[in-house]
Amino acid sequence: MNNSNEALKTKTVLYIEDNPANMELVRQILFQRPEVEMLGATHAREGLELAKTRCPDLILMDINLPGMDGLTALDLLKSDASTESIPVLALSANVMKSDIEKGIKSGFKEYITKPLKIVDFLDTVDRFLLQAPSN
Ligand code: MN
Repeated sequence: MNNSNEALKTKTVLYIEDNPANMELVRQILFQRPEVEMLGATHAREGLELAKTRCPDLILMDINLPGMDGLTALDLLKSDASTESIPVLALSANVMKSDIEKGIKSGFKEYITKPLKIVDFLDTVDRFLLQAPSN
């Protein structure tokens, strides 16, 4: 039987986001997936550290972050053997077509625009977590 809750068991999602309201929103949305543990980082350095130490199954990345931006953080994730295979999705309020194209070209697996559409967002998260190897 293909039980999606079973398949999602013990998955970890890391969200790198400096806006507390967005962090809380995603946390609330992911409460609908009790098997998913969400880690939060409010700036890129902290996020990179958590990515290395916790090996999340999926990373959600804001683009506009204080200090290092999300594109630079993505580059660093991709250049480190311990994090290069983790899928990284952009979550950004930069919704111009050129921003989205730049993000995808840079290596984000998907570029999700804010405000989040909750059902679509959960579908996307589920899709990536189901592809992740079981822990
Ligand atoms: Mn931001």
